[in-house]
Amino acid sequence: MIICDTHCDTLYMRALEPNEVPCVTMEHMKAGGMSLQTCTLFAGSKGMSDHPYDKAMAEYAAFEHLQQTEGWQKVNSPLEAEEGSVKILLSVEGGEIFEGSVERVHEFYDRGVRMAALTWNNENEIGHSAKSGSKEGIKPRGWVILREMAALRMAADTSHLNEAGFWDLIDRHSQPPMASHSCARALCDHFRNLTDDQIRAMAKRGGWIGVNFYPYFLREDGRATVEDIAQHIDHMCQLGAAKHVGFGSDFDGIGCTPVGCENPSKVPAILDCLRRRGYSEEALADIAGLNFLDYYRRLGWTE
Ligand SMILES: [Zn+2]
Repeated sequence: MIICDTHCDTLYMRALEPNEVPCVTMEHMKAGGMSLQTCTLFAGSKGMSDHPYDKAMAEYAAFEHLQQTEGWQKVNSPLEAEEGSVKILLSVEGGEIFEGSVERVHEFYDRGVRMAALTWNNENEIGHSAKSGSKEGIKPRGWVILREMAALRMAADTSHLNEAGFWDLIDRHSQPPMASHSCARALCDHFRNLTDDQIRAMAKRGGWIGVNFYPYFLREDGRATVEDIAQHIDHMCQLGAAKHVGFGSDFDGIGCTPVGCENPSKVPAILDCLRRRGYSEEALADIAGLNFLDYYRRLGWTE
């Protein structure tokens, strides 16, 4: 089975939090049968004012080191994912890394970035965050960046983006958007989670959602187990997103993990939960990874 995960903060942890111990290791990914792990280049928590590009470069250097020393292998297309080997897809989290420049979008594309979260929790040249509560949509400069991303078939990631920006993308972007690490707000009322209307729109528009494993996005009391991850996936499937949902762990970017899903080696336990709920092997293969690859086919990627 091909298993994909669309978000982890391991490169930031390795580059900029040297006292932390990452849980996304080659050993854990192999043990979990991971085929494609997306590793993000994170702009940092302080936004435009705190050298987001330099941080991304430090993270990229950490990735090069992992390639040289621990056999981490980058893909240039998500469709290179295959059963039995672990590959790494690069993304960006926080569009301030681009500093409003289309040349920067190309630069990161050339480094292998195939997905970009337009904002983190701060406003930037592209738009506003969910955290801000802003009712403003995508900014004019944001559309310039988005047009370039679409031309390169780089996925527009709405996790962390405000609702006005989300609906702008649904209505006006030339490519279907995605949410790399977001849960369902109907099950856990948090500004980072997607409403049922957003989940339905994502499915209708041909987008994709990776369910986040952060206990406080899964349950308001934070007492989450692996069953809660399955519950959020099941909820999205019931809203019509069975072909548009998968995993967006957020490992190494979350301060705690659900009981029973502490690192990538435990990801198959989520599939076991869904299997017990009556999901077919075909439906499980879709959720584990095939939905994500189909999403990139809709962006125009081919084998
Ligand atoms: Zn995030």
